[in-house]
Amino acid sequence: MASGQSRQADVLVIGGGIAGSAVAHHLARAGCDVLLVERHDLNTEASGCNSGSLHGQIPYEPFFLNGPEWAETFAPTLQLMRASIDVWAGVEAELGTALDVATPGGLIVGRNEAQMRVIEAKARVERAQGLEVEMLDRGGIERLAPYISEIMIGGAFCPTEGKANPLLAGPAFAKRAEANGARIERHVSVTGLMREGDGYIARTDTGNIYARRVVNCAGAGAGTIAAMLGIDLPVEAHAIQTTVSEPVQPMIHHLIYSADEKLSLKQTAVGTLLIGGGWPADLDEFGRPQVSMRSLVQNMRVALDAVPQLDGIQIVRSWAAIVNGTADWRPIIGEVPGHPGFFIAFFPWMGFTVGPLMGQIIADQVLGRTPHIDVTAFKPSG
Ligand SMILES: Cc1cc2nc3c(=O)[nH]c(=O)nc-3n(C[C@H](O)[C@H](O)[C@H](O)COP(=O)(O)OP(=O)(O)OC[C@H]3O[C@@H](n4cnc5c(N)ncnc54)[C@H](O)[C@@H]3O)c2cc1C
Repeated sequence: MASGQSRQADVLVIGGGIAGSAVAHHLARAGCDVLLVERHDLNTEASGCNSGSLHGQIPYEPFFLNGPEWAETFAPTLQLMRASIDVWAGVEAELGTALDVATPGGLIVGRNEAQMRVIEAKARVERAQGLEVEMLDRGGIERLAPYISEIMIGGAFCPTEGKANPLLAGPAFAKRAEANGARIERHVSVTGLMREGDGYIARTDTGNIYARRVVNCAGAGAGTIAAMLGIDLPVEAHAIQTTVSEPVQPMIHHLIYSADEKLSLKQTAVGTLLIGGGWPADLDEFGRPQVSMRSLVQNMRVALDAVPQLDGIQIVRSWAAIVNGTADWRPIIGEVPGHPGFFIAFFPWMGFTVGPLMGQIIADQVLGRTPHIDVTAFKPSG
């Protein structure tokens, strides 16, 4: 795109992560004139750098820190996570490509009675939301996942959880969107946004874009985009990290969490182990995320405590990226009151899980259809 060239679209999608690509896919499939702009290449931020977990349960750490009261406010979010995992089941067929989607279930393990009480309290809130959760004693762990360390006395199993390949998923949505007529412009940064007539003008480093409707899928940058219209979004950006091992024989059959400390551990389709859980990364002198050695060591310790067979497996690479967050872990989804035609598609901390559903929901809203799942509780306040 030549510098200074203006263009227009019915819907402008800002951000080429999984949310933006899925929104563009569903809009293009419905015949909508959609233009997606991404300041870098597609899938280069959180959506392409994550651990690929499909989360269905309440995350342990915020539950432990904030207790059941917080969990009650978070609980409606579980419906979105569960609905999105259902959507993931059909995404490979829908997009016509393999994305390594598998849902063998997720297992959180605890090593003492105090941890087991927290896991049990968490399971109560989850079950009240209709989530299937099975409490396991030591014998149950041995039967389900004999590779778990014998120091773990029990746990809880959530059969709907799983994994998908973050390197493939976002680009697959984008490819289908383009095949259905969506325009995708890489290396185009939105630098300003203002109301114009019955739509919006986005100022970019390659000229202005006029669009009747705009979808903010900018992830950790969503607050900056919203602020261009004077909207204050309570969004956060945090640097976190993940590690991948060499490929090994099949040994870890579930998505594993620990009540000890932050952990997500799974084996990919090619045999590598992805070890993460949201450990904080550092920022370099330019504000870019970089791996924290302290977090790396702690992350590996928690992983080894959960699965002793990891000892001797070679680590190949660790990387750091920015995750989009909110303090209360709740998403922000929908049209902003007072800003007709301006939509937010923001799912914090676990937005890979909800990406495919987000695409459906936002496309429905943009097209004036009622989404099949009620998201009014997550409406932006404007
Ligand atoms: C290390 C790590 C591990 C994670 N693990 C998991 C996991 O296992 N499971 C899970 O569910 N979630 C996980 N997450 C979270 C998940 O990756 C994110 O919540 C999700 O990818 C957010 O998707 P998104 O499309 O909203 O945002 P992003 O993927 O961040 O995409 C937003 C895009 O908008 C672009 N953009 C921003 N501003 C502008 C602008 N002004 N103009 C043009 N483009 C712009 C950005 O360049 C970016 O490409 C993890 C995140 C990280 C960092």
